[in-house]
Amino acid sequence: EDWLAQIPFENSYAQLPERFFERRRPDPVRNPSLIKVNSALACFLGLRPEDLASPSGVSVLAGSRLPETADPIAMAYAGHQFGGFVPQLGDGRAVLLGEVRGQDDRLYDVQLKGSGRTAFSRMGDGRAGIGPVLREYIVSEAMFALGVPTTRSLAAVRTGQTVLRERPIPGAILTRVSRGHIRVGTFQYFAAQGDIEALQTLREYVVGRLYPDAIDAENAAVALLEKVVERQAQLISHWMLIGFIHGVMNTDNMSVAGETIDYGPCAFMEAYEPGKVYSSIDQMGRYAYGNQPAIGHWNLVQLAQSLLPLFDPDMERAVSIAQDVIDRYPDQFEDYLTRGLRKKLGLLEEEPGDRSLAQALLDEMAKHGADFTNTFRDLSLVGNAADMARASTGSLFADPLAATEWLDRYRARLSQEGTSHAERANMLAQVNPVYIPRNHLIEEAISAAEAGPDLRPFEKLVEVLAMPFEHRSGLERYALPAKPEEQVLQTYC
Ligand code: AMP
Ligand code: MG
Ligand code: MG
Repeated sequence: EDWLAQIPFENSYAQLPERFFERRRPDPVRNPSLIKVNSALACFLGLRPEDLASPSGVSVLAGSRLPETADPIAMAYAGHQFGGFVPQLGDGRAVLLGEVRGQDDRLYDVQLKGSGRTAFSRMGDGRAGIGPVLREYIVSEAMFALGVPTTRSLAAVRTGQTVLRERPIPGAILTRVSRGHIRVGTFQYFAAQGDIEALQTLREYVVGRLYPDAIDAENAAVALLEKVVERQAQLISHWMLIGFIHGVMNTDNMSVAGETIDYGPCAFMEAYEPGKVYSSIDQMGRYAYGNQPAIGHWNLVQLAQSLLPLFDPDMERAVSIAQDVIDRYPDQFEDYLTRGLRKKLGLLEEEPGDRSLAQALLDEMAKHGADFTNTFRDLSLVGNAADMARASTGSLFADPLAATEWLDRYRARLSQEGTSHAERANMLAQVNPVYIPRNHLIEEAISAAEAGPDLRPFEKLVEVLAMPFEHRSGLERYALPAKPEEQVLQTYC
């Protein structure tokens, strides 16, 4: 048990002024049990997987026991929820144990999510159900394997207690790892109180920890906004390129580290549809797939607004500085998206018609209800007539007549490239995944874990999604879109 006293937590956030957080220990639970430890991530963080999986490890992961080196806190933040400002949200069911250094020498937050009530819980019970915990584990680790910046999942445990949602469900806790749980809403929290000193302190903390190249900028607050804007343009373009729908892009769920954070009613699209919404709480479609780039922009305006006092004492000048940075976002986003789409089409050269060629493919997918993932994956078949017969289920190319016009255009464009078919197929295979966390597979894993409790479908799904780009035999069902009777129409948080 010595390992517990030796976890090198740094507790840097807990050293900020008291108004940044509530000091709060996780609430102990009586009968916790292990669901999973992420061995690769544990090792990356300098922790031994077998320690985490031991009885003392499980009691830490369940919040029942506190490592001596931890200085646990619940972080304060505000946020716009579905467009309406809430001046105080904060970690209502999460506790930051501290930060540890990864093998990349960067600091990582280690947070328990579902560990009991805090000062920020409002009406909530401070707990999490096993379903949302497993969904976050599966999807966040899939995102990591897909190359998308994201918070990660170090472990999941059952609490042995029941939480009451629409029905009673087993309680669980996720151990979430992040480059820093600082959100757009963290800046909003202090800005709304007119607490400029705290804004300044938070700015210094974030730049020092996440954007050290900005320390020496003429104006570090402006440099910070520039960095966050660019990271979000890149992040959201990445979501668009893999068909990911976040589902709750409230400003408290937008990370200033540029990570995907807060996997609630998120989903991967199957049939391509720009207006697609899965979230049961998004009745207006505010966070629909196709709205994500614009919502990102809107959220960044809220960040810029919060930082205004740090830009310039002259408000007019501050606003004009902010506007300049914010106005760059649409072009940055389009650039990242176009570059990404070119890769998804296997194109190395840059031709002016590439964006419209990609758009034409998306339009065909929308018209035919084609599976987004499998359609892109099948582009590697183009170039060999016999191969097209091997098109995957749900892809646009499974119907030989659906895409003939587009294919003529694509073939003409390919003739301008110097690459061979084999080279192109290889490039395509590195950006167009075979396996994504399909909603029905997630639901299957959750149901088995709840009912059995049988963790095998969860384990298997996590294992499949850890290598999303490589076809493996025996895994055919993981690459298939849901059958009509398997389709998940709504997701819940
Ligand atoms: P989310 O929609 O997950 O971003 O959560 C919004 C806010 O509600 C955050 O402040 C959460 O900490 C809080 N919250 C969500 N679920 C619970 C819960 N079960 N108990 C207490 N607070 C919660
Ligand atoms: Mg949240
Ligand atoms: Mg959430």
